[in-house]
Amino acid sequence: MHIAGLEKNSAVDFPGEVATVIFTAGCNLRCQYCHNYDLIPAQKGRMSEDAVLAQLRRQQFLFDAIVISGGEPTLQPDLADFIRGLKSEGFRVKLDTNGLRPDVLGALLEEGLLDYVAMDIKAPLEKYEQIAGVDVDVEVVAESIDLLTGGDIPYEFRTTFDPDLTTADVVEIAHRIDGARLFAIQQFRPTERDQRTPHQETYVFRAVELARIVLPGTVVRGLTLTEEKLREAIHREKPAEEFAALHADPTWASQLE
Ligand code: SF4
Repeated sequence: MHIAGLEKNSAVDFPGEVATVIFTAGCNLRCQYCHNYDLIPAQKGRMSEDAVLAQLRRQQFLFDAIVISGGEPTLQPDLADFIRGLKSEGFRVKLDTNGLRPDVLGALLEEGLLDYVAMDIKAPLEKYEQIAGVDVDVEVVAESIDLLTGGDIPYEFRTTFDPDLTTADVVEIAHRIDGARLFAIQQFRPTERDQRTPHQETYVFRAVELARIVLPGTVVRGLTLTEEKLREAIHREKPAEEFAALHADPTWASQLE
């Protein structure tokens, strides 16, 4: 495992748990908004596996949950061995993945090595390459989605609301993952290398409300205004009944652009 870093005591990365987050090096995508861009070089690893395990063992009395994030962890050839080691020590394990390796994800799920999975969905399938920054075989993304929706371990899908995505794109993603337990729409945050302007919070929340018509388990992360204030604002623009009625029209989401 190329382990590039460790973050202790995260209360936000594993639902219901205080966890240590392990960041692996290397990624097969090049999302413009990436907040871990320095982890993308595959040889970035600098912590020895033994040192990481020893540190986790020492702190196990404080927490017993681990998030394996990246980069893209499924690129690590010895990921399954590493997780087996963690499980044998009694840790609960969450995997963060971009879903491009359904073969790896499927094997980990089948062996019962994962307790929670968070999978990024970068865009509707036809816009994937634009947002992910590289050629992508979208069939593999679809395969990973089906593995999670058809399985029985807790999971969530996450979409960062890239400024090049629209409300219609978000609704299309919601349709593709119809039946999913949890869909998290995350506000875009600019980085040093990506200074684009985020969508306005009302626009983001409009996408959330529209996605909720398809998927009630849609949540939003990273907004500063409360849902109550945002709901008031969007229904001032378009009354709730009119908003809901649009759902019956196949072109409904694009009417709002
Ligand atoms: S998949 Fe994640 S780690 Fe990889 S480039 Fe995109 S945001 Fe960064």
